[in-house]
Amino acid sequence: MKQPQMEIAGNTTAAASPGVEPESSIQGRNDWKGISENLRKSIGGDAFQRWFGTASWDGCEEAEGIVTVPGEIHQVWIETNYMPELMMAAGEFHTGMRRVKIVVSESEGAAAPGDSAPSHQHNIRKELPDEMLEKRAKAAGLNPDYSFKNFVVGTNSQFAHAACEAVATKSGVGYNPLFIHGGSGLGKTHLMHAIGQELLRRRPDTRVVYLTCEKFTNEFIESIRKGDIEKFRRRYRSSDVLLIDDVQFLTGKERSQEEFFHTFNTLLDGRNQVVLTSDRPACEIKNLEPRLVSRFECGLAVELQPPALETRMAILKKKSLEWKVSVDVTVLSFLAEKIRSNVRRLEGALVRVATFASLAGESVSVEKVEYLLRDFIQEEASRQVTIDGIQRAVAETFDVRMADMISRRRPASIAFPRQIAMYLSRSMTHNSLMEIGESFGGRDHGTVIHACKKVKLELDKQPGLRERIERIQSQLKR
Ligand code: ADP
Ligand code: MG
Repeated sequence: MKQPQMEIAGNTTAAASPGVEPESSIQGRNDWKGISENLRKSIGGDAFQRWFGTASWDGCEEAEGIVTVPGEIHQVWIETNYMPELMMAAGEFHTGMRRVKIVVSESEGAAAPGDSAPSHQHNIRKELPDEMLEKRAKAAGLNPDYSFKNFVVGTNSQFAHAACEAVATKSGVGYNPLFIHGGSGLGKTHLMHAIGQELLRRRPDTRVVYLTCEKFTNEFIESIRKGDIEKFRRRYRSSDVLLIDDVQFLTGKERSQEEFFHTFNTLLDGRNQVVLTSDRPACEIKNLEPRLVSRFECGLAVELQPPALETRMAILKKKSLEWKVSVDVTVLSFLAEKIRSNVRRLEGALVRVATFASLAGESVSVEKVEYLLRDFIQEEASRQVTIDGIQRAVAETFDVRMADMISRRRPASIAFPRQIAMYLSRSMTHNSLMEIGESFGGRDHGTVIHACKKVKLELDKQPGLRERIERIQSQLKR
């Protein structure tokens, strides 16, 4: 005979027949209430509401507690930010628990028709077929090649990608504005176009508008000159989804900032989605009005980092397929190894190699590639800030010996410059805490964390320190 479903269901919540709630589920809810209270205290009410407000507790099995969340973005965010707090909060109710796993609820995924879209809730039709989508995308200023399908996700972009997908596939997720920042050529524009296209595909009636911030500014000025500012305003303030690329361009442009601020408020008040990109965090855009900075920061900010080696390799393989070029895998590895900081440059290198190969009608060797790309490779090498370079620059500025960077000597006149060098290594290189500690005479990662905290504190206390450190930074970047 079949087992009663309640027992088999264990701690899945939805399985019992209507009216008879499984005991485990009642227990789960009670537990979650207690865990929630603890969490609220440790991470604060706002953060709790945003990240755990829709979560549920699915019990603890074999020392593993399970928390179910509505989407990947919640999963990644909680995993990166709140695991220790969650462990503490849940530990009180499940003493044998050793780990917590965050799982995405199965009802997640394609936004169902009837999803409560904020204002792009027009007649919901079927998804657009590909050729129609391409037309619509182009009309909205979007490049059809910049799709989610063509984006390679790595640890450097996992969170940003999840946030973009959430904005594109689920309405009313509340990441508004979504602010994507990161260095040049890392895929900000690509992800932004992908959001626009996915929205169009799912809800063809959405008014998606994409433009660069430079275009926004130019059109604004032009509309003042022509005296048809109202038309300008109508166009942008009536969009359902506004995608504005490279907002760092607003730096120092007071009137454009003012106009932008009002456009932005109109859209947000109407619960329309705004997505912005910038080559730096909002607070680092020079001469940007504080009210705009705080507006930019009131949604969700995600960062794109340079991709790791295996992601660079995956990108090259994908591009070779996409562009139908065949380049030997040893050559691809060579490119991935040498070009680290920028995906656009990685693509440029692949194009150059592929073009050469097709013109020469032969496959290219690594030696040949080294020659073909000598300028790329040289430039790449000169851009890279190394721990060694940092140690030298700091030693010189603070007049200590290079040897003291790795020595055990502790007088403050030596220890502090060493801490500054650790701090800069943390912020200017991609080395891990352990690697940094290792390069400073085999210190452990705790020492590096301590150094970073100390320097941050001193930056606000010691007059002139910030300028000194900024000088070292710009010297290193040259
Ligand atoms: P950004 O706007 O950050 O300067 P882009 O979005 O213009 O960078 O990306 C530069 C180029 O690199 C584009 O051709 C884009 O398709 C490609 N690219 C960047 N990141 C990825 C990725 N993760 N997967 C595939 N292509 C990528
Ligand atoms: Mg861009």
